Amino acid sequence: MFLAQEIIRKKRDGKALSTAEIQFFVNGITHNTVSEGQIAALGMAVYFNDMNMDERIALTSAMRDSGTVLDWSGLSLNGPIIDKHSTGGVGDVISLMLGPMAAACGGYVPMISGRGLGHTGGTLDKFDAIPGYQTEPSSELFRKVVKEAGVAIIGQTGDLVPADKRFYSIRDNTATVESISLITASILSKKLAAGLDALAMDVKVGSGAFMPTYEASAELAKSITAVANGAGTKTTALLTDMNQVLASCAGNAVEVREAINFLTGTYRNPRLYEVTMGLCAEMLVLGGIAQNDAEARTKLNTVLDNGKAAEIFGRMVAGLGGPTDFVESYDKYLPHSPIVRPVYASKQGFAHSMDTRQLGLAVVTLGGGRRKPGDALDYSVGLTEVCALGDEISTDKPLAVIHAQTEQGFEEAAEAVRSAIEIGESTPEKTPEIYQYIRAEDL
Ligand code: URA
Repeated sequence: MFLAQEIIRKKRDGKALSTAEIQFFVNGITHNTVSEGQIAALGMAVYFNDMNMDERIALTSAMRDSGTVLDWSGLSLNGPIIDKHSTGGVGDVISLMLGPMAAACGGYVPMISGRGLGHTGGTLDKFDAIPGYQTEPSSELFRKVVKEAGVAIIGQTGDLVPADKRFYSIRDNTATVESISLITASILSKKLAAGLDALAMDVKVGSGAFMPTYEASAELAKSITAVANGAGTKTTALLTDMNQVLASCAGNAVEVREAINFLTGTYRNPRLYEVTMGLCAEMLVLGGIAQNDAEARTKLNTVLDNGKAAEIFGRMVAGLGGPTDFVESYDKYLPHSPIVRPVYASKQGFAHSMDTRQLGLAVVTLGGGRRKPGDALDYSVGLTEVCALGDEISTDKPLAVIHAQTEQGFEEAAEAVRSAIEIGESTPEKTPEIYQYIRAEDL
């Protein structure tokens, strides 16, 4: 038996907590036997004094086990349970393609996704743009679609990781979100509660990333890789570029359109392709579906080119209540904005740098993201044909095309886009799509 205040005192004094102490405290968070003040105090003590890897593993595991941990063993699946998670980006539509691609290669992907947070888009909001698609299905339907389609992308259910729900909301208003230990435990407890064999983690770097510097993103990536592997899930983190919008667009319905065009081969944005392939290939290797990266990429290109990945996307959408002909007739179902008009730069030159966070906020301002929790979204709005860094910008080549509901919305977004994209006289140095792989054996 422990006392919460003694656990807080120990961390306040910079000492390492034992697994039993961490389990006791997390149990108290879940069952309301530690107070909000005590949780806030421990959060602040961890913020200043940090946790070592053993403590982070204990915290993540205890939080994972605070609610239901999904168990797939009863379904007799003939492939590994694999998944991907991202720290959040702008125009990051990867999950929509990667889930079906991994399933088409023989994996099972029970992907539990989130809604937009701050300037970043949320995978669930994109699926909510599809009429009928249930982002909160019963657990029976979730399991059925995972078994039959190989992939189901849904929202967090009420009984998954209750400790994080309480802890995160207290961190959010007591200035303790920005702790690598606490972020690691928060993200991984939710992912690992899905009962995964393997996970590829996309840690974003750059002007649209959640972490402020390359070093901070790298530190988070290392922490996630160490803790996830320590908690028993094979995991690799990839540091990927978020210094520009990843897809050609940002928004909800517009990103669903881009995902379908990617899957059917109508159009594949090269940056989006590189990051999607890097993450998905790593999932296949970690899950034992491919021996190495090259073999994984061959398999992935095959299921893209033979239409299997697109077919699986369609099966998932139909299985979760969406239209049965969605892949063929998506434009009939997705909403359109009344105003669709390009925004031009005030001078000619080359797209030199992007304040990607600002572009994400422009989508929020248009109504594609929330200003406060619970806001209804306008799924039709967003940006398309967003220029890439290095593109020549002229009176013929706009910075982006804005999809807006009102003239005022268009004007506000146009101003934000113009100020977010800097025009230079020469092309900037090209940066890689993937900076670094952080694997368990590299730590
Ligand atoms: N996302 C999460 O889920 N948790 C954090 O702590 C930060 C980002």
